[in-house]
Amino acid sequence: MSAYTELLNNLEYLNLEQIKYNLDVYIDLITNGKKTVVDALNELTKLEINFKKEKRANSNVKVANFPFIKTIDDFDFTFQPTINEDKIKDFLTSRFIENQENIIFLGNPGVGKTHLSVAIGIEAAKKRYSTYFITAHDLMMNLKKANLENRLETRLKHYAKYRVLIIDEIGYLPISIEEANMFFQLINLRYEKKSTIITTNKEFSKWPEIFGDLNIAGAILDRLLHHAKIEKITGRSYRTKEVQKMMKQN
Ligand code: ADP
Ligand code: MG
Repeated sequence: MSAYTELLNNLEYLNLEQIKYNLDVYIDLITNGKKTVVDALNELTKLEINFKKEKRANSNVKVANFPFIKTIDDFDFTFQPTINEDKIKDFLTSRFIENQENIIFLGNPGVGKTHLSVAIGIEAAKKRYSTYFITAHDLMMNLKKANLENRLETRLKHYAKYRVLIIDEIGYLPISIEEANMFFQLINLRYEKKSTIITTNKEFSKWPEIFGDLNIAGAILDRLLHHAKIEKITGRSYRTKEVQKMMKQN
């Protein structure tokens, strides 16, 4: 076996696919005197590192269970002037994660609450913070199922461990007192340790109605709001805008 073939095999064995892929180009550059060996090796290893970093970031995004992939670049701030763009950009820096703060998006359907939560979540996942997206409904279902199977504590610990947990659509569906209790336990486990992002269409004064109990709603809000950034969006629905646009076209 030639040394070249052996080298290719070694690179494959070491899982250095980018170095292997770019090897010929760099051997030519060295042979033609256009790059020194040190520069070539430096650049090849950089290519490999960047590729691996990107792969890891993407796999972290994949496991986060986002309903769609949309970033802040896809968001039209001019359409929603009540949103403070600088505040959203600050959430993208992950400062809120390091400070164990929560974010609450409050507003009517279609104003971009889920979109912004996903965009923030994607940034967090890319930076390798463990991140997970779940609707309030699915969360309650999963907790209830775990409770029935006598493994509620394990399940709560599972959801408690994410550095960023996005709980989408609180308030759209009524919550039973059993679900409210389990939800409180989760929020309590995460309190001052992990960041939770909540989207809701209901003002906090309406939360006792959602949870069916004044005390439990108070206890949940107490912990959620203690270290929280609240972004209230009072604009038009983007969905309606799209529908209006389509209707004009036809
Ligand atoms: P909400 O969660 O508040 O009900 P969504 O975030 O699901 O609203 O937004 C509804 C749809 O409209 C999504 O497809 C979202 O990407 C899009 N959307 C909402 N607001 C904007 C905006 N300002 N710029 C671009 N797309 C938007
Ligand atoms: Mg939504």
